[in-house]
Amino acid sequence: MVLTNKKIYDAISEVAGEEAIAIVDFLKNRKNISEFIIAEKTKFDMQKTRNLLYKLNHHNIASYIRKKDRKKGWYISYWTFNRKRVNELIDKLKREKLDRLKDQLEREESNKDNFFICSKACARLDFDQATEFEFKCPECGSLLVQQENSKTIDNIRKRIRDIESAS
Ligand SMILES: [Zn+2]
Repeated sequence: MVLTNKKIYDAISEVAGEEAIAIVDFLKNRKNISEFIIAEKTKFDMQKTRNLLYKLNHHNIASYIRKKDRKKGWYISYWTFNRKRVNELIDKLKREKLDRLKDQLEREESNKDNFFICSKACARLDFDQATEFEFKCPECGSLLVQQENSKTIDNIRKRIRDIESAS
């Protein structure tokens, strides 16, 4: 897989939020950068900076070493971006997305044309759930109507194909 900046940024915003991109952008071609320098360059306050760095660290895409500052006597962390780990993260996110879609597809296929929706669109239930509520919307009490779901199934299949064919 070719690791483009876009892929890196997408994966990072998915796990750590869009703000983390600024940090990764600054760390990208550097090594062992002090958390204070990172905060200064990205213009986030220390708490936010640390917060974002630990989120990246949680997903293995940034690592740090701690060193005691001789003058001040406290510990400072020095950060490095792990570009190679981004591929693993992207694979993991892709697998999770596929798993979710396949579960969803299975649920749609095993209840083919057997979903029930509220005419005011507050709920969508499968047959068992609809029976439980005597075919009335659990939110507003309107009568539920049967819904055919072949479009939903096609849609999920297409999303699965798109993810599987994306390289
Ligand atoms: Zn309703």
